[in-house]
Amino acid sequence: MERYARQLLLKEVGGAGQARLLRARVVLIGAGGLGSPAAYYLAAAGVGGLVIADDDRVEISNLQRQILHTTDRIGQTKTASALQALRALNPDIDLVPFTERVTDDTVDDLVRQGDLVIDGSDTFVTRYLLNRACFVAQKPLVSGAVLGFEGQLSLFLHGVDPAAPCYQCLYPDPPAVGTTATCRSGGVLGAVTGIVGAWQAAEAIKALLGVGESLAGYLLLINILHGQIQRIRIPKNPNCPLCGPATA
Ligand SMILES: [Zn+2]
Repeated sequence: MERYARQLLLKEVGGAGQARLLRARVVLIGAGGLGSPAAYYLAAAGVGGLVIADDDRVEISNLQRQILHTTDRIGQTKTASALQALRALNPDIDLVPFTERVTDDTVDDLVRQGDLVIDGSDTFVTRYLLNRACFVAQKPLVSGAVLGFEGQLSLFLHGVDPAAPCYQCLYPDPPAVGTTATCRSGGVLGAVTGIVGAWQAAEAIKALLGVGESLAGYLLLINILHGQIQRIRIPKNPNCPLCGPATA
């Protein structure tokens, strides 16, 4: 009670909401720039179960933004490093590492382990995999991406609401490999990943509590360099290769 006192005061949370959070389980894909702040805030808020998927090891160039990790943990798996950080923050929650690549073969079992999925991955392949797996497993998907000084995020409910658009309604075709900039090639400001990752955590907590107005059906575009935020509608694409009525 004391640990969660400041959020128990919120009428949107309260005792019943806190109990709900403690019973909830979130699958977090990626313990990197987005996954770090997302994991910290979910663990701190008492989301009772966190499944953390990442098959990378901590490198020195990660530390500028991936704040779960520390200099003395370079070389460790990111899941081991993340678990150490999150256990120190909140020992009362269940932390489950998944130290394998998210592939066509592993994604379905992984997604089924949670009530909700947060995409903090950095590849288009994984984003499309998760979009499909969440559709099949009927799980909400909190999607986020960053590059440079810009970020975007949304909540996709296509798995639970037939009228809701999905990631592929927004981006029908994956870009050809090598045609898009990544944080590795284009760079990113660490604080921008902090903002988007923390917002993903907040969106996930709202969805688990069933409070407020969600970002479902909207894409939030954040430009930190110019100090601008835009929220644009994502129309349902009737010809979406995944969720369009023609394919259902
Ligand atoms: Zn779709």
